[in-house]
Amino acid sequence: MTDNSIHQRREVVVVGGGQAGLAIGYFLAEQGRDFTILEAAQEPGAAWRERWDSLKLFTPARYDSLPGVAFPGDPDRYPLRDEVAAYLADYARHFELPVELNSRVNTIRRVEGGYVIELDDRTYDADQAVVATGPFQVAFVPPIAEQLGEGVVQMHSTAYRSPQSVPEGRVLVVGGGNTGFQIAEELSASREVHLSIGSRQTPLPQRILGRDLFWYLEATGLIRKTVESRIGRRMSGRDTLIGSTPRRLRRGHGVELHGRVVGATGSGVRFADDSQLDVASVIWATGFHTDHCWIDAPVFDQGGRLEHERGVTASPGLYFLGLTWQHTRGSALLGWVKDDAAYIAAKVAAFRPSKAPERARPTMNDGTSAAPAAASTSN
Ligand SMILES: Cc1cc2nc3c(=O)[nH]c(=O)nc-3n(C[C@H](O)[C@H](O)[C@H](O)COP(=O)(O)OP(=O)(O)OC[C@H]3O[C@@H](n4cnc5c(N)ncnc54)[C@H](O)[C@@H]3O)c2cc1C
Repeated sequence: MTDNSIHQRREVVVVGGGQAGLAIGYFLAEQGRDFTILEAAQEPGAAWRERWDSLKLFTPARYDSLPGVAFPGDPDRYPLRDEVAAYLADYARHFELPVELNSRVNTIRRVEGGYVIELDDRTYDADQAVVATGPFQVAFVPPIAEQLGEGVVQMHSTAYRSPQSVPEGRVLVVGGGNTGFQIAEELSASREVHLSIGSRQTPLPQRILGRDLFWYLEATGLIRKTVESRIGRRMSGRDTLIGSTPRRLRRGHGVELHGRVVGATGSGVRFADDSQLDVASVIWATGFHTDHCWIDAPVFDQGGRLEHERGVTASPGLYFLGLTWQHTRGSALLGWVKDDAAYIAAKVAAFRPSKAPERARPTMNDGTSAAPAAASTSN
């Protein structure tokens, strides 16, 4: 239950302390703004630690830096998961960013002249708010999973840590993206692995003529093509598979490839070509949904889709940062999120509140509240 007894005020509240939240934090600190970053987890950049142990970035270190501090080490290497988490924690410390940990936001509510941000144990009033809660929020598992028998061990890729977390026996990885390919490859060293590819992604080599793929994306300007441009629209409609191909996985690692999973009974899985396979375990590398249902502001269309222009919404002073293709391919990547962060920070600086935010509950000197919560606006 929400206890609003502690009430604070900030000019800007940022929700989420991953790379997007920290990048905007850098610019807000530069502006000398009174702000806080509320992070649900117990460390900044926590999403990285929730990914599998051996995860290696597909972006080399030279393209993994947030504004102001270069990612350490050889710029041509591909950092590991824990190095990213450590870099982000160091980054927050280095700039003394006001990150409040263990601080999950339950609601952002638009009120007259600003926003009320509610946590379990406290509430903030803010003129402006930035939602930086990540492009990958709720693990998606297709309903077919429910048809599998209890004897089959199932997990979403977010629960996969290492081959030790999967029982012996034949394993099916479902999902033809970078995650599915990397997990299938890792498991193939110790067991029989099958990979179901529902829709093929465009394979791109990690390195071409001695240079990294992202060097070419930078040099050609493709990484900064906007989602409104013709090529941007084409690129955003098609996911890419970096550094791997179905052929390499099959020939080099003995992984057997299948089409889409269309049904399941007991320990049997059926594919689109009607072939069947008995499995001991299934790893669903089937992606994520976003969940913005905790945001009470007029920024969604009738289908519940977020409406924004480069992260700026129609609700004055409410912004999003770090969305996939928010503006360009780089929007949800470590090395390029700074471009959108700088843009949003400039919007924050230019913002003029129409009137002082209506307080949800004024704070008394002893920290207790004196008045009932303000009603949210109807829109
Ligand atoms: C498997 C995988 C591999 C990737 N590899 C690369 C790569 O090689 N290079 C690259 O550049 N990018 C990569 N990415 C993409 C991207 O860099 C990451 O997804 C990155 O974590 C996104 O950062 P973010 O700050 O936008 O979101 P997140 O890192 O998800 O951070 C959001 C934060 O918000 C917090 N939060 C959520 N809800 C609330 C709430 N209600 N209240 C308070 N806090 C909340 C979360 O705890 C989290 O810490 C990869 C992504 C995945 C999934």
